[in-house]
Amino acid sequence: MIEASGQQHIVQVLRVAMSKGSVGHAYLFYGPAGTGKKKLAGSIAQALNCLQFPEGPCETCLSCQKVVRRSHPDVHWIAPEGKAIRIEQVRQVIKAAALQPLEGRQQIFILDATQGLTPEAANSMLKTLEEPPASVIFILLAEKPGLLPSTVVSRCQVFPLRCLAEQPEQSEMFRSLTGEAAAFLTALRQETGVSVLSGRLAGNENLPGILDVILTMLRDILVLLSSGRETLLFFERETYAGLDEQWTAGGAFKAIVILLKLQKNLQTPVNVRLAAEAALLQLKEVLS
Ligand SMILES: [Zn+2]
Repeated sequence: MIEASGQQHIVQVLRVAMSKGSVGHAYLFYGPAGTGKKKLAGSIAQALNCLQFPEGPCETCLSCQKVVRRSHPDVHWIAPEGKAIRIEQVRQVIKAAALQPLEGRQQIFILDATQGLTPEAANSMLKTLEEPPASVIFILLAEKPGLLPSTVVSRCQVFPLRCLAEQPEQSEMFRSLTGEAAAFLTALRQETGVSVLSGRLAGNENLPGILDVILTMLRDILVLLSSGRETLLFFERETYAGLDEQWTAGGAFKAIVILLKLQKNLQTPVNVRLAAEAALLQLKEVLS
């Protein structure tokens, strides 16, 4: 079966599509770091080319194994070169998509971190994304669809991934990300200097990921403080133990605005530390 605990809402739609032979030609899966986007994409690629199709993925046939090893000639993983997927990479994708599958039923192009697509790269793929050859499926992965050009989003079937806090293999990464984000949000409310905070933020290897988690947590804090409705939370209630008491709804809202701007700035070539420091100065000002 398609491996995607917690993502049954997506699996169900795809299962029906596969059984009817009406799989879409472009999907966009989005969610914060740690929600299992790549795992789900890989699982779908397995299912589409499994030798047991449409019952698969069986996980054991040669095709399924090749997908896991990332050696399947028809399953292409495209990761950003540097900060973003570049136009040269997109041109190669378009060229390869025009060819017939070598071994499998379908060619699947999985584009990771598409929130960093340059506008030129995005534009150059619009036509192919809208009408790819029959044997081609695109799976775009992004942390936030809002950072993608609407022209790209509108050509995809869009699915949000739910947080997988309950998945054991994901939970460690999840805990470390939310733990870091919570420590940052606490420090922000206490008297921690801007340079210390920006070091913590800008020095983080996974800055886009941690920023995304921080923003999601602030949004949850805002929900807790303004409505108290725990069912609307993205993460578990216990993630916010003590945090919601340190924040006000107004402060959380202002922080979201500033951090969203920082997130957008980081999509452009900037000095990360300076950008983080500028954002933190603003935060300190509005929160004091
Ligand atoms: Zn298989």
